[in-house]
Amino acid sequence: MPRTGLSPALIARLSKRADQHKYDHGHALILSGGPGRGGAARLAARAALRVGAGLVTLGCPPEALAENAAQVTAIMLRPLDGSAGLEEALEDPRLNAICMGPGLGIATVSRNHVRVALASRRPVVLDADALTSFADDPRAFFALLHSNAVLTPHMGEFARVFPDLAKALQADPRESRLEVRRAAVTQAAARCGATVLLKGEVTLIADPSGHLAELHLTGKAAAPWLATAGSGDVLAGLVTGLLARGFSPFQAAETGAWLHGAAGRHLGAGLIAEDLPEALPAIFAQLG
Ligand code: AMP
Ligand code: MG
Repeated sequence: MPRTGLSPALIARLSKRADQHKYDHGHALILSGGPGRGGAARLAARAALRVGAGLVTLGCPPEALAENAAQVTAIMLRPLDGSAGLEEALEDPRLNAICMGPGLGIATVSRNHVRVALASRRPVVLDADALTSFADDPRAFFALLHSNAVLTPHMGEFARVFPDLAKALQADPRESRLEVRRAAVTQAAARCGATVLLKGEVTLIADPSGHLAELHLTGKAAAPWLATAGSGDVLAGLVTGLLARGFSPFQAAETGAWLHGAAGRHLGAGLIAEDLPEALPAIFAQLG
């Protein structure tokens, strides 16, 4: 049976930070797209910082630097000139988790960024455009993936990377849908060799060794309010921040999804994506 909810051990680990120095809590690098497209990555960066990464850097094309600089404070900025710029940034061994996809754009440079990030073997969250960039050649994508990667597709992105598995899902009658979704996400993780988090009203998480978790966004009528612009970008940032803190890919995915739902329930109707990272201190306070 899939795990639902968080184990007490994970909850305890989430709200306690044992060591004192910011470098003990990891350094997340969030990649942003070009001018006018940085909002999604800034949401992810804010979430990574709130969930406890010691440092967060937003990497962006040089032409988007001024725009991002007007929007961030505690988050650091680094201009990245193409994938060579990313390679150079990754020479810093303290950068220990990467997020790419939100607002990244679908271009050759995005694919190259994904290649460079995966070749570094660092924990990496691949969302949105990072997934869509490989829609025409999922096999080439799978050849790059490894067990430190977490894919966070919504159903549309899942269908681009795993079209056959999505087809089985779409053909299925409603009552057995969850069972079929569990099978699809389990097969997807086994096939690609990475952790897969399939978003939705029920979020399913599988890793290549067969672990399965699911989070049901029940509770107040607030859950559907999580389906809002930028919500998934916040989730990608939460998972990245937890990876930077040293959570395993599967733990980071299930803990991030749990926190995302808890923040949604806490905020209730009227929430927007910007509010979700800001709700984390209240959630942590409730954890004790
Ligand atoms: P994205 O489409 O990337 O912005 O991600 C959407 C986010 O909203 C994911 O975290 C989903 O789990 C969540 N979500 C989508 N639909 C619902 C729903 N009906 N109820 C609750 N959460 C949802
Ligand atoms: Mg999204």
